[in-house]
Amino acid sequence: MSNKTKVILRSGKDDAIKRYHPWVFSGAIKKIHGPQADGSLVEVFSNRDEYLGAGLYHDASIAVRIMSFAPERPDELDADFWHQKLAAAYKMRETTKLTDNKNTNVYRLVHGEGDHLPGLIIDHYNGNLVVQAHAIGIHKYRNEIAESLKRIFGEKLKSIYYKSKDTLPGEFSKSEEAEGFLYGNTESDIVIEYGHKFDIDFIHGQKTGFFIDQRVNRQLLTQYASGKTILNTFCYSGGFSVYALAAGAKTVESLDSSRKALELAEKNVALNFTDTSNHSVILADAVQYIRENQKTYDLIILDPPAFAKHSNVRHNAVQGYKRLNAEAIRQITPGGILFTFSCSQVVSMGLFKSTVIAAAIQAGRQVRILHQMNQPADHPINAFHPEGEYLKGLVLYIK
Ligand code: SAH
Repeated sequence: MSNKTKVILRSGKDDAIKRYHPWVFSGAIKKIHGPQADGSLVEVFSNRDEYLGAGLYHDASIAVRIMSFAPERPDELDADFWHQKLAAAYKMRETTKLTDNKNTNVYRLVHGEGDHLPGLIIDHYNGNLVVQAHAIGIHKYRNEIAESLKRIFGEKLKSIYYKSKDTLPGEFSKSEEAEGFLYGNTESDIVIEYGHKFDIDFIHGQKTGFFIDQRVNRQLLTQYASGKTILNTFCYSGGFSVYALAAGAKTVESLDSSRKALELAEKNVALNFTDTSNHSVILADAVQYIRENQKTYDLIILDPPAFAKHSNVRHNAVQGYKRLNAEAIRQITPGGILFTFSCSQVVSMGLFKSTVIAAAIQAGRQVRILHQMNQPADHPINAFHPEGEYLKGLVLYIK
């Protein structure tokens, strides 16, 4: 007999979990038998007392994140459990040719639900790992996770930095343990992505230090950048700018509202090119700048942060995307190109596409869709968790 806390679902609320969706919402719970400590391992049962899975509990809207759907009920999430899951994530990156790649040594090793590890993100930067917990349950196991990572990477491992101050809920985010090295002490390192160099600051950078999810889309930009005048808005550390310059862009302007981001962008451009005279930075609010600026460009990149974090603000987000895209489309020379993105989970590709088309109509321009973009293979989508499909983008030809 298990002595674990038993979470019993309401009648009819077990369908999602039977289809291996890893979240149990608090509204689906009928009763909880046993202690309700945040971060503890609990067992989930249907209203008819069928065992459905074991997961980590938190008194919040997502009350349980299922860590195991296997019929064998885990006693605890021990070192072997973590090692099996993390080794499986590593193996998948081996399959996608990312673990031993001369041109790219930055990739996402663990993508939460996409790797059957809800609440956990791990990014790999040239032998340095940045671990980020989005749930208290995961935070509790950070040492087991680090031990397994040491086993997987062996001598290739330089450091493990735990970075969860901005992602853990409540008092845990303030604790000293929310951030710091679990192994080694590399604070920053130069990585390569498709042969381009980037200096990554793990400690002070946004998220885990770099927006790895745009790798393939940045590579696509190289097909269109040669000879063009380019505005890269929401540029952060200059990812798209470096690729555009390498592809022979005439000029690239990198725009961000963060001074620190622009410093990183300038640093990364200088790391790749001796002559940086065709690159400049603009410190501004992108929306305002695009609205007020009268200059035109051959190619504009729009990669804003998520406008909607929840479905109740989806409508406002859609209006925001529409305004931004309409203004950008107006600034593009005939025959020019727009790379436009949304990383809002609650805005689907269909909705994003119709929003951008509405923006083109508003701008009075003809557009054709040349490419539809997505997140790369190291950010896999768990087929039973469609919410994991968050990044979408379009390449438009503007007449
Ligand atoms: N394109 C980048 C990632 C963009 S992340 C890459 O490939 O790495 C989003 C960026 O938008 C952040 O750098 C943030 O500082 C910036 N940002 C947020 N709000 C902004 C605003 N209103 N105007 C300009 N930049 C903004």
